[in-house]
Amino acid sequence: MESHKLSFVADMHTHTVASTHAYSTITENAVWCSQHGVKYLGMTDHGVELQDAPDTWHFENLKVLPDFLSGVRVFKGIEANILDTDGNIDIFPEKEAVYYNILEWVNASLHVPTFAPSTKKDHTKAYLNVLKNRYVDVICHSESPKYDYDIDEVTKACAEYGRLIEINECRLGRGGVSVERYKTILESCEKNGTNIIVNSDAHFYTHIGQFPLAEKLISDMGFPESLIINTNEERFLKYLDSRKRRTGKDR
Ligand SMILES: [Zn+2]
Ligand SMILES: [Zn+2]
Repeated sequence: MESHKLSFVADMHTHTVASTHAYSTITENAVWCSQHGVKYLGMTDHGVELQDAPDTWHFENLKVLPDFLSGVRVFKGIEANILDTDGNIDIFPEKEAVYYNILEWVNASLHVPTFAPSTKKDHTKAYLNVLKNRYVDVICHSESPKYDYDIDEVTKACAEYGRLIEINECRLGRGGVSVERYKTILESCEKNGTNIIVNSDAHFYTHIGQFPLAEKLISDMGFPESLIINTNEERFLKYLDSRKRRTGKDR
């Protein structure tokens, strides 16, 4: 079968100057998206427990942002840190109500400073438990060789709970073992009918919506496009609908 070029309507893992190791404003990010066919932009700065993350104030005040910037729908989001094997993230009980009323998108990640690499069993448990949080949308950059996990069990759980596994363009750029692990993850997603999302994890605006490595991997593997939620607006909107039903939040 001849492969065709994929076109991506959304990038739901991006950072702004709110984390000072990222270098673009939300306005710059949105303008770039408007010029590159990205209609949906996830603004997902780091959860508070990571060094260099913004304060809780950042997340609590996201409501001042308009829904659309330069015609691009901007989702108020977070890249939350998974903190333990119980799947707790750095949205703490006393802030939950405020955060979840504002946040429209939740990425969940393991990062070394907030989850010391442990055993395969512990990483698997952390991922399985974080999926029990109905606000969590995506398990991000899980290809990290530092965090081995039972890929099949987690992609199965994602399919069951209607959540997403991320293919992270930035991590693919590391090559080698990252690519190999993503191949295994994609094979498992295909087998289990797990939806994926391709994201940039951009820390500068020119990287947003640019996925040459993910596209190549997906097309080399013949991964079914029907399981990629951000190459088609209808599929993306369908996911948002399922999110609304799951969280009970209107937006
Ligand atoms: Zn970062
Ligand atoms: Zn991350």
